[in-house]
Amino acid sequence: MSSSTEALADSLSEKLKAHSIHDAQDLTEAVPAPPSPLRHHVVHEGYGFRPPSGVSTPIVTASGSSTDVLIPDAHGLGWPAKDTYERLSATPEERKAREQKIAAAMRTILQSIGEDPDREGLLRTPDRYAQAIMWMTRGYEERLADVINDAVFAEDHDEMVLVRDVDISSLCEHHLVPFTGKVAIAYIPNKHVLGISKLARIAETFSRRLQVQERLTKQIAVAVQEAIKPRGVAVVMEATHLCMTMRGVQKPGAITVTSCMLGCFRDQQKTREEFLTLMKS
Ligand SMILES: [Zn+2]
Repeated sequence: MSSSTEALADSLSEKLKAHSIHDAQDLTEAVPAPPSPLRHHVVHEGYGFRPPSGVSTPIVTASGSSTDVLIPDAHGLGWPAKDTYERLSATPEERKAREQKIAAAMRTILQSIGEDPDREGLLRTPDRYAQAIMWMTRGYEERLADVINDAVFAEDHDEMVLVRDVDISSLCEHHLVPFTGKVAIAYIPNKHVLGISKLARIAETFSRRLQVQERLTKQIAVAVQEAIKPRGVAVVMEATHLCMTMRGVQKPGAITVTSCMLGCFRDQQKTREEFLTLMKS
């Protein structure tokens, strides 16, 4: 992790500390109340909640738990749309139809950019692309509960657990081009630990969906928080965005750092410092 990480993580967690609770309350007042059936069936056992306002990122309070006005996402699909559910439950035939629709759209794109989709090199490109984009977004077909499965263990361990340098590849939802980088995930257990490989699997599941780096970072933290209710979670991600390096401002080498600190990582500077030291060691 670069030296800029520490300062950024510090200022970010300060900001979160100052704003999180008020933001959540503001949202409660600003958005219309959800229909009453939803209100009475809010379940806290999901791995993420989408507020009825349509905001794409969950609001998390200082304690790390989501608030009541949010819509439960029991499958941990990451604030799913109607089509997310349809894709998740698609039969093989429906899946084939989905790929054909994508391929037809890709043919239109090839023509529109001034290409000949019937020339030899491009003949199978629409089909290949359809399969590739389905693969690159396969996180929509993974329920977080299945990802974590039964890898939650009762343990008396109360020292920090840190997994770092986990590679991530995702697609930016604004341009549908990749961003890639590394993520570090840490938590301090509270009677339960998560199988170590599951931290990487959680990152993988959320990164194989359309993302913005800020939300991806937060979703990973919230997922760990909700899975094992630790004393705190910290996630720091460094990534390079192709939409920045290949187009627009064209700044090759620019690295975007995002972080999300929950619980004791947000409240206790000492814990944060230990985390940053461990990340650099
Ligand atoms: Zn982008």
